[in-house]
Amino acid sequence: MTNPNAVVSDTQSAIAMAITTAVNTSSLYSTTVPTSPYNITLFSRNKFPMTKSIETAVTAAGAHGGMGKNIAWVEAMRASSPTRNSSNDSEDKKVWITKHPSALGMFDEIMSAAKMKQVVIFLDYDGTLSPIVENPDQAYMDPEMRIAVKNVAKHFPTAIVSGRCRAKVYNFVRLSELYYAGSHGMDIKGPSSRNHQQGNQNVLCQPAKEFLPMMAEVYKILLKKTKDIVGANVENNKFCLSVHYRCVEEQSWSDLYDRVKSVLKDYPELKLTQGRMVFEIRPTIKWDKGNAIEFLLESLGYANSKDVLPIYIGDDRTDEDAFKVLRKRGQGFGILVSKLPKETDAFYSLQEPFEVMYFLQRLVAWKRSMLRNH
Ligand SMILES: [Mg+2]
Repeated sequence: MTNPNAVVSDTQSAIAMAITTAVNTSSLYSTTVPTSPYNITLFSRNKFPMTKSIETAVTAAGAHGGMGKNIAWVEAMRASSPTRNSSNDSEDKKVWITKHPSALGMFDEIMSAAKMKQVVIFLDYDGTLSPIVENPDQAYMDPEMRIAVKNVAKHFPTAIVSGRCRAKVYNFVRLSELYYAGSHGMDIKGPSSRNHQQGNQNVLCQPAKEFLPMMAEVYKILLKKTKDIVGANVENNKFCLSVHYRCVEEQSWSDLYDRVKSVLKDYPELKLTQGRMVFEIRPTIKWDKGNAIEFLLESLGYANSKDVLPIYIGDDRTDEDAFKVLRKRGQGFGILVSKLPKETDAFYSLQEPFEVMYFLQRLVAWKRSMLRNH
């Protein structure tokens, strides 16, 4: 353990940890500018910076802009549709797949880098372990996928890193041996059982805890504001509010965006980003999935270790923050789940959750063969 303030070793002290965690949330309201041990600078309430962690086309085109800027958002909403083929050009796809080859095709190469190293697995949930479905409350995981994840967790420290609130993603996955980083990593908890030799099993990190009352308030307002837009679904993910529009008619997207934007006018401490068919509202602090995996690697004792190989599999823009961290560390691999060419910092690609499952099964088979041969 490299940071005694960030990790606790049992469930009960995990609660105390929320208070003493190195990312001291009370400092969010102070006039000083403390720096966390995770290189996260926390600001006083009037000094929240716009994070640049998600520099999407939409933010560049005017996430906080004025009249007429929603055209860019609506275009981005169209592009984020999982069923929409934004590039039919097979040449483009060929070039893209050369740059981001299939993690299944490159499996042996990937694992040759893993010899003598501790593999740590990070998995997004929606669109990675479960298919993207119309009703986000029904994004169930295939039982075979659950077995694959369970087997992976027997051999490697494994974390689910999701935009969903921790409790919700846990209810979908229902494996107590995993780490869970909910709300885009703003709510992290370790396994409740002790399956791994190394590291401390209960971590808890809530860098945006002070925002909880505000998030609850904005959730209620968003519910009221969007209730007459057919298909709009506001989800309270605790530290992140999600406004799903996959069931909203395309002609209402602009109206929905305007309404969400009008609510946020009164909350400059919150920012609006976009995922796959979803708007996401989060506290404007520099904490994302990338910070979450750094926190977890540190918690596992691999902050500065050369003997670790993190593998992160995800399908969304928010997963790019994690891919970037792996590139920056020069360690491990990001794997993007996508059928379409997309700009990404991932090294490899997989086309859909089924391929993710197959990759996880191969990982387990690889580990078992390594154990047999030694
Ligand atoms: Mg996803």
